[in-house]
Amino acid sequence: MKVEFYKHNLDIKDIQNVVDVLKSTFLTTGNVVSDFESQFAEFMQAKHCITTSSCTSALHLSLIAAGVTKDDEVITTPLSFIATANAIEYVGAKPVFVDVERDTGNIDASLISNKVTKRTKAIIPVHLYGQLCDMKSISQIAKKHNLVVIEDAAHAVESSRENYVAGQYSDLSCFSFYATKNLTSGEGGAITTNNPKYVTPLKKLRLHGMSTTAIDRYSKKYSHYDMDVLGWKYNMTNVQAAMMVSQLTQLRARLEKREKIAQRYESAFSKIKEIELIKVLPNSNSARHLFTILTKDRDATLHKLQQRNIGVAVNFNPIHLMTYYKKKYGYKLRDFPNAEYIGAKTITLPLYPKLTKIEQDYVIKSVIEDVVI
Ligand SMILES: *Cc1c(COP(=O)(O)O)cnc(C)c1O
Repeated sequence: MKVEFYKHNLDIKDIQNVVDVLKSTFLTTGNVVSDFESQFAEFMQAKHCITTSSCTSALHLSLIAAGVTKDDEVITTPLSFIATANAIEYVGAKPVFVDVERDTGNIDASLISNKVTKRTKAIIPVHLYGQLCDMKSISQIAKKHNLVVIEDAAHAVESSRENYVAGQYSDLSCFSFYATKNLTSGEGGAITTNNPKYVTPLKKLRLHGMSTTAIDRYSKKYSHYDMDVLGWKYNMTNVQAAMMVSQLTQLRARLEKREKIAQRYESAFSKIKEIELIKVLPNSNSARHLFTILTKDRDATLHKLQQRNIGVAVNFNPIHLMTYYKKKYGYKLRDFPNAEYIGAKTITLPLYPKLTKIEQDYVIKSVIEDVVI
């Protein structure tokens, strides 16, 4: 048996929408992108959505739009994909890490205030594995110190906590539509915001700083473009957007399927003393993006599972222990014990709607056999 780490859910309708764009004139950023932007904004209960080429570019542009620049400090978590900290590096600012909660893996809001200095400009919380951070506390800290909050919501399209979703207690919220994310266009990203002041700058920044776009010149009276700020080439194409418009209507049903699988995993593994699980808090509905177990001898278990043809991943080896960050800032082992604890033990298991019962059983049986020896 072979169990893939991830299988996407693109159906006939998604594929047909892409084919329709391929048969049309306009392949790059145009009407399909704008349609997706309004639908995604509505889905996230946000006023505005600006699509980008990735979550990494979304984070980069959000930091620029928020005025974060050279020598500023940005508080974030060490337990994330490197993109979160790399985006901070792109603008010349310093990522200042704060340790995570041992049971959820999310940034520990109670430790943030201690790390605020005169140079701190922003906080980037990451909703790890699909569970929202304590955004109410984080936004209060931000208000007190006049900081911008930018969410890394790459795992959090369907998440909720108490009565809020991603993007409601922050200035800007960044999403990823990378190949293995719950909503995907292979590569892609988006920023949502309720503050209209960010919309025009972000739209300019994602396309070289140009004052008019190709679709404007194509569909309206020709007008020359000017460029008054330096922007990037971070726009989403109509082909990518077409892949996602009808996926939006499937997200709830797919979450239910992942929730069932996650609960099966949890009930099987909670009986095994060699396995620890990430806690989903009672006030929280996880988007169930990644299902991870914590094991003692992680690498041995990881390799055994791989030998059984089960797709696995590590989310994440902490960012502060990456050579670049160690060298540049002198971060070292024991700086962030909880992030290191999870980072050293975590294994991500297959979790997607197409994962069959037989495959789930095989994963469960294999994991238990491999950790209990
Ligand atoms: C996937 C991911 C990103 C990067 O997303 P891209 O769209 O690939 O740039 C950023 N942060 C987290 C937490 C992620 O999992």
